[in-house]
Amino acid sequence: MSEALGIDVGGTKVALGRVRDGAGVVARRVIPTRAEEGAQRVVERIGEAAAELLAGDRLPVGVAMTGAVDAGSGRVTFAPNLGWSDVPLAAMLQAVLPGPVRIENDATLAAWGEYYWSEAPRPDPLVMLTLGTGVGGGIVTGGRPLVGAKGHAAEVGHVIVEPEGRLCGCGRRGCLETLASGTALDRAAQSLLGPGARARELVAAAEAGHVDAREELARAGWALGRVVGDLITILDPARVVLTGGVTPAGEWIMAPLREEAQRRALPVAFVGTVIDWSHFGLDAGLLGAGAWGLVAGDTG
Ligand SMILES: [Zn+2]
Repeated sequence: MSEALGIDVGGTKVALGRVRDGAGVVARRVIPTRAEEGAQRVVERIGEAAAELLAGDRLPVGVAMTGAVDAGSGRVTFAPNLGWSDVPLAAMLQAVLPGPVRIENDATLAAWGEYYWSEAPRPDPLVMLTLGTGVGGGIVTGGRPLVGAKGHAAEVGHVIVEPEGRLCGCGRRGCLETLASGTALDRAAQSLLGPGARARELVAAAEAGHVDAREELARAGWALGRVVGDLITILDPARVVLTGGVTPAGEWIMAPLREEAQRRALPVAFVGTVIDWSHFGLDAGLLGAGAWGLVAGDTG
């Protein structure tokens, strides 16, 4: 029996899941993050929820963390969603959890989850895009997550699509996430449908025949397709998957995405590449965190 604990730390909630090889998530808890209470209090509450799931067992722990993570030192370098910088999260969690803890960026582990829990043959290389507050990215190649020399590989949300475009949180202009994140679609919803409107209402409007709503979703799909097309040319992936809160947009985003990716990618690399929504939906990050714990013994 191979089991682990996965913890997916997001801006608004923390999902914890006990995973078992061959079975996926066998028990779970979700708690609010409440980052404003400070990292120590958040860690204590995670420890309490984990204790319920562990029931006295000492399991390895994988942590998927929003923001920039230095996996080697186990520190959260910068997590804008939580307002945390330079937090030694792995060490803090290790103090309240019995098994070994390793942390990694959440989009990287979403990619790892999609890869690990896929039926054989596992798709390799695999590219994951997570569409939330920003646009995250993860790549698995050669059976390993691609992390980069400094831990910042696959920051696909900050590939510049429109050089003169909207100012991005990174200080540059026209990054993919200014066009295709949940935040960008919320903003489009508000300009089209009024104050307080959200991306899901934009999708509902598109379904109902609202031409401008369809155009906004198609524009997000186009922007994603540009970057996905280039990733296909560079990586020749078996599978490109997307997840996140905008998943209900379905083909309103996916059809223009595929079209632009095909237009942009080198044809020999594009042929046979599957581009689709995640098999695991919003669970990809939690499953990836759990799988990161499962393989702790294999990859150090
Ligand atoms: Zn940016």
